Amino acid sequence: MSNPLYDALFEPHKNNEACFLITDEGEQLSFRQFVGMAAQIAHVLRNAGVKPGDRIAVQAPKRVETLALYAASVQTGAVYLPLNTGYTLSELSYFISDAAPALVICQDKAEEGLSPVASAAGAALLTLNADGTGSLTAQSKDQPTEFATAYRAPDDLAALLYTSGTTGRSKGAMLSHENLLSNATALAGLWQISSSDTLIHALPIFHTHGLFVAVNTSLIAGACMRFMSRFDIDQVIEALPGATTMMGVPTFYTRLLADARFSRDITGSMRLFVSGSAPLLAETHEAFEERTGHRILERYGMTETNMNTSNPYEGERKPGSVGFPLAGTEVKIVDSNTGEEMEPGGVGMIEVRGPNVFSGYWNMPEKTAEELRVSGFFITGDLGQIDAEGYLSIVGREKDLIITGGYNVYPIEVEDEINQVSGVVESAVFGVPHGDFGEAVIAAVVTAPGATLDTAELSQIVSERLARYKHPKRYVFVAELPRNTMGKVQKNLLRETWANLLSEPV
Ligand code: AMP
Repeated sequence: MSNPLYDALFEPHKNNEACFLITDEGEQLSFRQFVGMAAQIAHVLRNAGVKPGDRIAVQAPKRVETLALYAASVQTGAVYLPLNTGYTLSELSYFISDAAPALVICQDKAEEGLSPVASAAGAALLTLNADGTGSLTAQSKDQPTEFATAYRAPDDLAALLYTSGTTGRSKGAMLSHENLLSNATALAGLWQISSSDTLIHALPIFHTHGLFVAVNTSLIAGACMRFMSRFDIDQVIEALPGATTMMGVPTFYTRLLADARFSRDITGSMRLFVSGSAPLLAETHEAFEERTGHRILERYGMTETNMNTSNPYEGERKPGSVGFPLAGTEVKIVDSNTGEEMEPGGVGMIEVRGPNVFSGYWNMPEKTAEELRVSGFFITGDLGQIDAEGYLSIVGREKDLIITGGYNVYPIEVEDEINQVSGVVESAVFGVPHGDFGEAVIAAVVTAPGATLDTAELSQIVSERLARYKHPKRYVFVAELPRNTMGKVQKNLLRETWANLLSEPV
């Protein structure tokens, strides 16, 4: 029997007494304890009716039990579906009805709202709370710490991760055992991750970065994690002297640089800082090196493809560049109109192919066909350029994605909510530079003649419907939206006009 991901990430640690993670409270858990906890949860999953291939939808706090749930999902042969902890009931309802999971895991406080949604999808429901209590953990306590691992083939799905869609509907990216395993192997090798490492883990674990890049590479290499429930500057500063690696979004690094305690001395034991999920400004890269002597290593990836490229571990880490394709991954730049590969140095659409690339969107064969070529190349939606030395740089996004604090916001989703408010004619949502978050969400709104809408009213309605990170930081009321001759809203003009909005006094 084999199960590619389980056999590589978890099985080797069943007798490993070394540190798997250290919690916020300073408690240390060994790999052996973690694998045992996962097996106990696997029994609960099976008792709840989960079978190989079934989805398990999880909106749970960042805790070791949540990681054990991921491991248990892999061990039972299920498909792990992590959901942003900020999603509202109406957002969750869509994911659950689309993915039709066999089991939903949420906090006690969400149970009442989610119960009818889970029942309608035919799913059982268990709970896991921020303090570790809940029916999932209660039922797991007396279970055996061994579980017969379910057979899975390399192409079988291990995870389903939803990405926001430009059309407003989120798409579920289907990720196989091989996708996740090949990427963890490539990254751990390239970044020389080993059992001597201690990783500062302050990222969320419902996203590819915190879950797969950070956790899978730690598991495959046997590294220990300082597992923080969130990015807390004091805690990170305190943990740095005992750590060797950190993975973060650019916001983590700009926040560290803004703190006077962040110095060469406290980063003396560190050997690697990795950045990704959003562009790292060249100035941040340079300021970081000046302050600490470390050069941040930037990499590039996305939910659908896992990681594609990375700056080298040894060799020049170029500011503003995301480096070279990972082992086994091909990257090319094509003309988005013709699909033809560009001349060297040309700017065009980034396409990628390799064992890291997903197999398609859940229940969306047409979307899959639009973005994943028959040749296996995935059309990323990012625009890039490869220099004479082979380094890739991302020069823009074809989609109007806003990345705020490392989270992606697709404008259309926010616009859809605003447009439903009575008195609104139309809206355009776009990003402007923000010192802390990289970009901030702004909404330009056109109101009907005589309508008396104000910001407070709009933001009240929007905040009931969307996760907090998607809420516009400002609403600007305009007479009309700028449009080109084809009738398309020119978001570049909006971005230019309001570029300094957040640096001007209100
Ligand atoms: P997600 O699917 O949430 O991981 O978002 C993927 C998108 O984030 C990519 O398509 C890029 O637009 C962006 N992204 C990821 N890493 C980088 C990076 N290092 N520099 C610039 N953009 C990035």
